[in-house]
Amino acid sequence: MAFALPSTPSQVLEWDWPRFKTYYDELSSVRLSQDRLEAWMADWTALASLVAEAGNRLKVALDLHSDDEGLEARYTAFLESIAEPAQAAEQVLKEKLLSSGLEPPGFDIPLRNMRAEAALYREENLPLFTDHEKTALEYDKVVGSRSVSWEGKEYTVTQLVGQLSGADRPSREKGWRLAMDRVLSDSPAIDATWKSLVDIRGRIAANAGYSDYRAFAWRQKLRLEYSPADCETFRNAIEEVVVPAARRVYERRARRLGLKVLRPWDVSVDVMRQTDINVDCFGRPALRPYKDVAELETRIEGVFNKVDPRLGAYFATMRKEGLYDLDNYKGKTPGAYCTDYPASRRPFVLMNAAGGAGDVDTLLHEMGHAFHAFRVFENPALKYHQLWAYPLEFAEVASMGMELLASPFLTKSQGGFYTEEESARAAIMHMEQFLLFWPFMAVVDGFQHWAYEAGPDGAAKGRDPGACDAAWSGLWDRFVQGVDWSGLETAKAKGWQRKLHPFHYPFYYVEYGFAQLGAVQVFRRSLADRAEAVTAYLHGLSLGSSVSLRGLFEATGGKFAFDAPALREATDLLEERIAVEEKKL
Ligand SMILES: [Zn+2]
Repeated sequence: MAFALPSTPSQVLEWDWPRFKTYYDELSSVRLSQDRLEAWMADWTALASLVAEAGNRLKVALDLHSDDEGLEARYTAFLESIAEPAQAAEQVLKEKLLSSGLEPPGFDIPLRNMRAEAALYREENLPLFTDHEKTALEYDKVVGSRSVSWEGKEYTVTQLVGQLSGADRPSREKGWRLAMDRVLSDSPAIDATWKSLVDIRGRIAANAGYSDYRAFAWRQKLRLEYSPADCETFRNAIEEVVVPAARRVYERRARRLGLKVLRPWDVSVDVMRQTDINVDCFGRPALRPYKDVAELETRIEGVFNKVDPRLGAYFATMRKEGLYDLDNYKGKTPGAYCTDYPASRRPFVLMNAAGGAGDVDTLLHEMGHAFHAFRVFENPALKYHQLWAYPLEFAEVASMGMELLASPFLTKSQGGFYTEEESARAAIMHMEQFLLFWPFMAVVDGFQHWAYEAGPDGAAKGRDPGACDAAWSGLWDRFVQGVDWSGLETAKAKGWQRKLHPFHYPFYYVEYGFAQLGAVQVFRRSLADRAEAVTAYLHGLSLGSSVSLRGLFEATGGKFAFDAPALREATDLLEERIAVEEKKL
């Protein structure tokens, strides 16, 4: 058959649905047979890649200028008039493949996933998914438009962090309160957006025959290798093993700062990143790893080359082809992510560099995702796009694993960012962040499990923003111990509104917890033999979804786990490494 599709994906950005539809119609009209299967799958991959790339390119354009109404209109038009019918057309092809009984080689996992998705598919949910996406964009608009006036100048809430992280305690408190007041003033708008989202999710679940959204989301996220009960086991293990280690992190911080009690601004001045450590606790000037984004790019490329020249080459390609946008500016969507342009076989990275040590970790993280994309796109065994869709639980092994693999190469003597002493400080803060992350993840995960349970009136408990505040507070007190929030009860209770995931990506969070464990396992291996560990890491990344979740973890030399002994091994390693780095101070 071999389609005559455009060779440059940018050409299809202007296409309307009928032009895409011609190709979908052609694919669905083919009589499938063993002989035709491979060509048909290849054509499907080419078409699906173009549609996905067009959507991702429009989303990136909007995220770089989220205050641009023209770009917003273009993206929402794409969602409605192309993404929605394309999803329906994709479904026709999936059903065609499933009903043919044909199995492309190496396709067990995608077929398993497709069967699960087919069982969940309801046409009446498509407009609800679009509605969901548009409603979630309201959250971005509110968050993206925040600025505050500090010492006579306007800053985004993210930019203010750069001004405050090295400041004295009274200034940090003042800046933190200023930013928090600004953020809290949006609560009514975010309450309303959240209620709409919970309603839409409830309708989506009901349409698919599920009594609650969690049961639906579980199937939708293809969580076929672990259960809600396993997540509860994981949270309980975190409470048992990691919460005490996190408390020790806070105790060390208080001691270093000479404080009896830690307040939130002693840990982080970024009110939107609730577990990040970005306040220096060593009584030394804040780490300023780079002057500007150009320096950040140059140095990080050197670091990747030290870890493995293959990584340096991937980064050089991204640099040459303009496949990232690192600076922070007004109107740009907050946070950081990596997306992909599958027709071009390339990733794209967006982040908001503000000048601190956290940016180096964020860039390493997102580049780990980007390397994953390169590995998958380059693997000749992964012929079809379904095989590129690796599970999210493993995606974060690529990113968090990269943060740790690069950590020994961040000194200036290695071409990186820091003196030996600064590198030790950065490593301590980074590993302490890992220890603080698991409990925070347990809060975000526990909150979402709670939010979709039916309350006494039968409606999801999360429908009531006041109840959400109380639930979040309760989880916070259980898991995050060692920082005093007294007098800041509203700010504490509204913490769920400062987390993007429950708004945009419901239930997507525990993945980070599982993956962090996998990343520490990769790191552990690299301390014994780096070359072997990096090779295993790159091998695991190249497998896409050709093997199970367990298989992916095992390919990198780790184990997919959520029990207390596995967590204890990782927690002990991090605490040992922190002690080693402390000797360098
Ligand atoms: Zn990530």
